[in-house]
Amino acid sequence: MARVLVVGAGLTGSLCAALLRKETTTLVYLALWDKAGDAGGRMITASSPHNPRCTADLGAQYITCSSHYAKEHQHFYEELLAHGILKPLTAPIEGMKGKDGDSNFVAPQGLSSIIKYYLKKSGAEVFLKKCVTQINLKDNKWEVSTDKGCAEQFDLVILTMPTPEILGLQGDIVNLISERQREQLTSVSYSCRYALGLFYEAGMKINVPWSCRFFSSNHCICFISIDHKKRNIESSECGPSLVVHTTVPFGVQHLEDSEEDVQKLVTQQLEIVLPGLPKPIATKCHRWRYSQVTNSVSNRPGQMTLHLKPFLVCGGDGFTHSNFDGCIASAMSIVKVLKRYI
Ligand code: FAD
Repeated sequence: MARVLVVGAGLTGSLCAALLRKETTTLVYLALWDKAGDAGGRMITASSPHNPRCTADLGAQYITCSSHYAKEHQHFYEELLAHGILKPLTAPIEGMKGKDGDSNFVAPQGLSSIIKYYLKKSGAEVFLKKCVTQINLKDNKWEVSTDKGCAEQFDLVILTMPTPEILGLQGDIVNLISERQREQLTSVSYSCRYALGLFYEAGMKINVPWSCRFFSSNHCICFISIDHKKRNIESSECGPSLVVHTTVPFGVQHLEDSEEDVQKLVTQQLEIVLPGLPKPIATKCHRWRYSQVTNSVSNRPGQMTLHLKPFLVCGGDGFTHSNFDGCIASAMSIVKVLKRYI
């Protein structure tokens, strides 16, 4: 039985695993490792420490589907809508710039429910808090090691993390990446920003006429979501949640500051932008060092094959574009090349 490892429990990795399972039925042992404590990657949904049902999308906020992708990825949208994982976005968003023919969707249980849906479908064994640090060639297999010093062998490895994290891996992989490939991987760039999630006690009200709002003239805050309102979930047992995204210049300026210091600055600005907000019972500040892709691998191939025998491939939004459809396109192209080798 071939042993396959997917690194990264984001949308690309989880969908890759689900598509691979469909292609290979039970002939493959499928493992998925992620360094984070929960699945979701940049589509993570955080929970209040006081109430796991009070949640907030800290990364991606909603899914915008163009008329092109409504046809091209119709099957994926239909499946997620049929299972109630996605719902049309109906709540008002102030300052949203959309194109004609776009449709927007939210995930009522939070965007990480999409990733969890695909992980379940894949039947992969999922290991969290497992940070890959080295990839070596041993007996014609990949020996993959983690920061905790454990190592396992696989016949085939799929890397789906942001490209700087691929380039940071040690071991034989360093010399297996050709000069041309290294150049292409290095050319991928990402914006950086912070997200602050605020969780409130049940019964609290946040009185604004919108569910989300884009800000164009604040140096620190560019977007606020009243997250439960965006997802259209009102519950008497769970309080509201709010998410703030900072601007990219603010993210760049404070990239190496502590999250506590950044949280203070964002909270000060929030009090100016939305005066009179109630005091949250919990907060979560997250640094997105690699937020959205600003420059992808040229020609957007969806994947890059780093080695043939044994097979080593990488993908993710850096090989397409930074949204839901970009990840679907990458996962599909990874599975297309893999089908030739398993
Ligand atoms: P990721 O989600 O980054 O997954 C990679 C995974 O690899 C992560 O879980 C990470 O923990 C793991 N990893 C990294 N290094 C290692 C290692 N060494 N060992 C093990 N695991 C590792 N998209 C939209 O469609 N709509 C939006 O509204 C939207 N807004 C966004 C707002 C923000 C603030 C951000 C950050 C992103 C937004 N995006 C949005 C983009 C979207 O979230 C990404 O395109 C998508 O989630 C990328 O998925 P991925 O699986 O390719 O990568």
